[in-house]
Amino acid sequence: MTYQTLDTLRFDNRFILDLPADPETENYCRQVRRACYSHVKPTKVSQPQLIAYTREVADILNLTSEECELPDFVQVFSGNRLLEGMTPYATCYGGHQFGHWAGQLGDGRAINLGEVINQQGKRWALQLKGAGQTPYSRRADGLAVLRSSVREFLCSEAMYHLGIPTTRALSLILTGEKVVRDMFYDGNPKLELGAIVCRVAPSFTRFGSFQIFTARGETDVLQQLMDYTIRTDFSHLGEPSPEVYLAWFQEVCQRTAELIVHWTRVGFVHGVMNTDNMSILGLTIDYGPYGWLDDYAPNWTPNTTDAEGRRYCFDKQSHIAHWNLVQLAQTVYPLIKQTEPLQSILDSYAKEFECGWRKMMVQKLGLNTFKPATDEALVTELLAILQLVETDMTIFYRRLALIDAEVGSFSDMNEATFMEPIMDAYYQPEQLTSNDVMRIENWICSYIERVRQDGISNETRRMRMNSVNPNYVLRNYMAQLAIDKAEQGDNSMINELLELLRYPYDEQLEKREYAVKRPEWARHRAGCSMLSCSS
Ligand code: AMP
Ligand code: MG
Repeated sequence: MTYQTLDTLRFDNRFILDLPADPETENYCRQVRRACYSHVKPTKVSQPQLIAYTREVADILNLTSEECELPDFVQVFSGNRLLEGMTPYATCYGGHQFGHWAGQLGDGRAINLGEVINQQGKRWALQLKGAGQTPYSRRADGLAVLRSSVREFLCSEAMYHLGIPTTRALSLILTGEKVVRDMFYDGNPKLELGAIVCRVAPSFTRFGSFQIFTARGETDVLQQLMDYTIRTDFSHLGEPSPEVYLAWFQEVCQRTAELIVHWTRVGFVHGVMNTDNMSILGLTIDYGPYGWLDDYAPNWTPNTTDAEGRRYCFDKQSHIAHWNLVQLAQTVYPLIKQTEPLQSILDSYAKEFECGWRKMMVQKLGLNTFKPATDEALVTELLAILQLVETDMTIFYRRLALIDAEVGSFSDMNEATFMEPIMDAYYQPEQLTSNDVMRIENWICSYIERVRQDGISNETRRMRMNSVNPNYVLRNYMAQLAIDKAEQGDNSMINELLELLRYPYDEQLEKREYAVKRPEWARHRAGCSMLSCSS
């Protein structure tokens, strides 16, 4: 492969060539009708400074690391310099926020630079998040602060390395500007450091990108966006037609189900699953007040705005994804005009998710396949024992892999043999009552028996389990420590975490300080346990 320089990147920008534009080119807030996007330029920034970049994302754009370290790179990905072929724009979309139709939202602080076609012929859209106001900014400033940009940058890449579909992050750049934020919406605004992340994805199209046109009765524009989407991102489905629209909807449902299964596997909570934050490619998109389960608490949400209703808590994510897919079905109905096939695809989502979830759960346990006769009960009881006392989800599954299932008979074993490997997962082990311990031991016995039924050796089981149960996830407190340092001008931890999270399933013994439970000080600290939408 020959590498490109910034100046030789090839842009094809089909999104803007094929889809209707907002004829207005002045940059002021407005309702934009009958258009998929508005032309808008990134706002220039005073002192852009590169904090971090990812060599993997540079690589998919055919850029070398050296290219990313040139002064020009910072100018381009802070929005100060447009490359030949870049035609910046903000897209129009709508969405349901917390269950209510919110009307036009759009890229209020994201500016797309264009789509690169790499040497393998793959399309990658580049988008700056926090690059200034657009016609969709409503009353906000179009900017992003360092803390939320660090979180987006690190988590995008952490997800990728965990094997989870996601938008990517190429760069994290300080702008040199100050941004006012009232982090807790409590009347205490502060000046924070401004930053820009360059996000990269095959497409940033959301459920809400379609919804806005149906809501406004602009069915012809809806159809244009749909046909464009099928031709560019779903070309394997064939030329657009009502049958292909249905096949498309089915694939969106399937990808969404797979995504939520992945999130469930690693304990990720998105935090704001509004329909404008749902990617039609089934990617994790829009990293806001997301979080990772430390202790296994299915009703946990990191989002303070959602603390009361818990609409987007961990174990409701599949249900909410389905709700969002129902909105998408209603959106595409005018192009299909048949309720029944849409309904039956929606119904199959639940089956799809259930099936994927079962498969994932037995993989987490290192078993061959899900056997309903035994595994229904095994998994149900597992999720119950994880909630007896505060139990760290990530550590529990890693330690479970250490349980010796090749022991002789159970009578040879004492309590220590059963419990010892997993003790590390308990936040306050003294809270375990003797009943709890008995219940956990019983479960471990059934588990060992089940492993033996499948005839899997300890070694094979450990290898399998450790390839789906991460040793390292971006715990909320870890991101917060990296942010605290970066706000003081020390970016070392951002790069340290980026490196750590490249190999989330490995032991990385020299980094084991990060493979531990959330420290006690982080329990109630802002950014470590709860987050607001302010970003
Ligand atoms: P989010 O909750 O981040 O998914 O954002 C919801 C909507 O608000 C999207 O249309 C965003 O573009 C917009 N938005 C969020 N923050 C800002 C901001 N600082 N400036 C302008 N628009 C924003
Ligand atoms: Mg969003």
